[in-house]
Amino acid sequence: MLDALLWLNIDDTTVECLVCGHHCRLKNGMKGRCGVRVNKEGKLFSVVTDLVSSIQMDPIEKKPLYHFLPGTRTFSIGSVGCNFRCKFCQNDHISVIPKSGIINGKRTSARSLIDLAIQYKSKSIAFTYNEPTIFIELINDASELAFAHKIPVILVSNGFMSTDFLDMLANRVQAVNIDLKSFREDFYREYCGGHLRPVLDSLKRIRKMGWWLEVTTLVIHGLNDSPEEIRDCARFIRDELGADVPWHLSAFHPAYLMQDRADTSLEQLQAAWSIGKEEGLEYVYLGNVGAAVGGNTYCPQCSNLVAERSPWKISFPASGKCPKCGHDIPGVWH
Ligand code: SF4
Repeated sequence: MLDALLWLNIDDTTVECLVCGHHCRLKNGMKGRCGVRVNKEGKLFSVVTDLVSSIQMDPIEKKPLYHFLPGTRTFSIGSVGCNFRCKFCQNDHISVIPKSGIINGKRTSARSLIDLAIQYKSKSIAFTYNEPTIFIELINDASELAFAHKIPVILVSNGFMSTDFLDMLANRVQAVNIDLKSFREDFYREYCGGHLRPVLDSLKRIRKMGWWLEVTTLVIHGLNDSPEEIRDCARFIRDELGADVPWHLSAFHPAYLMQDRADTSLEQLQAAWSIGKEEGLEYVYLGNVGAAVGGNTYCPQCSNLVAERSPWKISFPASGKCPKCGHDIPGVWH
């Protein structure tokens, strides 16, 4: 257990954690909602400062990031715990702390992780699998080293981080994929244990900060895919973030506490895609629906196929321009 970042004393024995939108106020001995930050005698500590559950080299398209260093692999790191409680979590084996309180993982250091990433010749480092916000200490240390080695840092997050979190890492992170799980507060409260507004605020702030941003919505038929709600998401992205921000519509498959709900079908996903396009979004992608569907990039100006993505082929123009009309396709292409 090591000192945590971003907290303040409310009184001699109570602390407030400033890392995410929950702003947990903790009395002596209490853990935050994430289960990994604890008040010990009036000081906040993290139990995951040096703990990882998963390390893997992943295609960057799996994050998903389609406009950031395409075709490369990213050194992907996960820890344990989460500040949300999504009933449809696809990684509950690491996001949910068991009732026993025993946390499984491997103790390591930021230096060892960066050395491994260099050994693997990774083009980037991604903090992913579980919510990275709650292990800011490891990200802070690793991103400082990554910066020194010119290795870009990626976060894959639910977007429920605080402005303090974003400010602290402002110059250390290059790209993010943020979930927009719904456009309804009720959904965030009932199915995620979170709130919508802080996520929208993070998205707007991240866009202004200049991190490369892509947005993902897991489409759950009958829960968050009414035409009105999908249209609200699309309009928010267009008006507040920009029509050129890539939006990934990903199909739900039964997971964790939602085993009884049907898979989202390709047709249901395509209905959401059509609304995104109607609202003027330039790069809308489909995910989790099998091979070679909905992953290509088309030029918004001349409709030419610009980038092709399938399990067996990834092609894109290194120039970042449409080879037919020269239109700039936003992103970091090499
Ligand atoms: S990271 Fe969020 S959930 Fe965890 S203790 Fe801090 S405010 Fe609470």
